[in-house]
Amino acid sequence: MKAFVMREPGDVAIETVADAVAANDDVLLKVRMIGLCGSDLSSYRGKNPLVSFPRIPGHEIAATIAEPSRAHPELAAGMDVTLSPYFGCGRCPSCLRGRPNACQFNETLGVQRDGAMTEYIAVPAAKLYPARLTIKELCLVEPLTIGLHAVGRGRVTAQDAVAIFGCGGVGLGAVAASSFRGAMTIAVDVDDAKLAIALRAGATHAINTTKEPLHERLVELTGGRGPDVIIEAIGLPQTFRSAVDEVAFTGRVVYIGYAKEPVAYETRFFVQKELDILGSRNALPEDFREVIRMLEEHRFPVDEAVSAIVPLEQAPEMIKAWSDNPSAFSKIMVRLD
Ligand SMILES: [Zn+2]
Ligand SMILES: [Zn+2]
Repeated sequence: MKAFVMREPGDVAIETVADAVAANDDVLLKVRMIGLCGSDLSSYRGKNPLVSFPRIPGHEIAATIAEPSRAHPELAAGMDVTLSPYFGCGRCPSCLRGRPNACQFNETLGVQRDGAMTEYIAVPAAKLYPARLTIKELCLVEPLTIGLHAVGRGRVTAQDAVAIFGCGGVGLGAVAASSFRGAMTIAVDVDDAKLAIALRAGATHAINTTKEPLHERLVELTGGRGPDVIIEAIGLPQTFRSAVDEVAFTGRVVYIGYAKEPVAYETRFFVQKELDILGSRNALPEDFREVIRMLEEHRFPVDEAVSAIVPLEQAPEMIKAWSDNPSAFSKIMVRLD
């Protein structure tokens, strides 16, 4: 079967690889569509410390069941599914606490093991989420779970004012999830086009920090208190700090990305404001189910959020074009039909 293979950073090609074989409890899936993720771009650029080569990427997956497993007849041939690409170890402190999303030894499809940018894959039945969604929507479930998990970590309720710093793929998921929970949702970015999509995803307000002062606008929108929850989805030292500076007293700060350099903090705010400062990583099964509900209710502007869909054969050129000009694309999808 054909597969998109990253031989090493900057060197990608469509190759013929061994056919997928379903062992034990595995279900054989025909892959329909794959989303390219920022982490795939980092791998291509040699800037993803977690990935090893050669590697087949692909962890944002829409597929159709080709061969059900004998143990799970309810997952029938022809059903459309998405899946969780995370494989926890089952033994580390996170796994034992029921939080395998943060497994110490996690392996993600397309990163530490081969992913789904290929014609067929075999995965355990427990990873599958059947849903009445389009192929494009199924492909968006995993990326949206990342932002939705962060909203869960921030314990967002309808009573909260929530600011989301950064409206790229991950931030946009947080915007949609915060709005889905009924919170006043403030989208913050430097790009009007991204803010326009954030408003379509349910943001109640948008702040372009190249045109408006962030602090004054947040104060004004929250009656002087600051947001109850701030979700940082940019990963710059200044936005890491600004989240702590701008959040309300006794508020919650959630970090999804990580800054590529050390961040200096005014730590007095941690104590004075008695903040909850939380990390958020990957997603849990309940996050997959909630994103599916959100998409079933058409709470996300699917078409606006996807900027290009290409066939597998064009994926190598596409990842090069994306790497040459990252801001030209939001979400790129690869079609395998
Ligand atoms: Zn991803
Ligand atoms: Zn573990």
